[in-house]
Amino acid sequence: MIAIVSACLLGINCRYDGGNVANKGLIEVVKAGKIVPIPVCPEQLSGLPTPRKTCEIIGGDGFDVLNGKARVLTKDGEDLTEKFVRGANEVLKIARLVKADIAIMKNYSPSCGCGFIYDGSFSGKKREGFGVTSALLMQNGFKVISVEEFLHGNR
Ligand code: SF4
Repeated sequence: MIAIVSACLLGINCRYDGGNVANKGLIEVVKAGKIVPIPVCPEQLSGLPTPRKTCEIIGGDGFDVLNGKARVLTKDGEDLTEKFVRGANEVLKIARLVKADIAIMKNYSPSCGCGFIYDGSFSGKKREGFGVTSALLMQNGFKVISVEEFLHGNR
């Protein structure tokens, strides 16, 4: 099974703070040869630097961003919507190229969030919804699930 995977889940230091969120369970699945992972970081693919400023979706979720109804902003108000959409499209290109069977994504991220994202208040509060990349993959017919759902059958 070919799986697009949020790269930070596999220990790649691509997060906004220059770190990662390596997921032992998922790495075990990879080592066992149960999936062929294609690690991607849409925010790096967008051209944004690492480390970079944290961003949240204001006014909706990733689907709303794609529909032009919501924006992706830094805490100090810089509008990075176009970058996030560009990164999402790069991931879509990769998913099509490798004919991905599934995308396993990191929750809460404004790009990769899959079921839950931060609510746009920069206060740590979460809301239901999807990041821009997860939304674009879903819109284009890819099966997208969070790593928790993939490993444990829940979000
Ligand atoms: S954009 Fe996705 S892959 Fe990149 S650091 Fe954030 S959650 Fe991980």
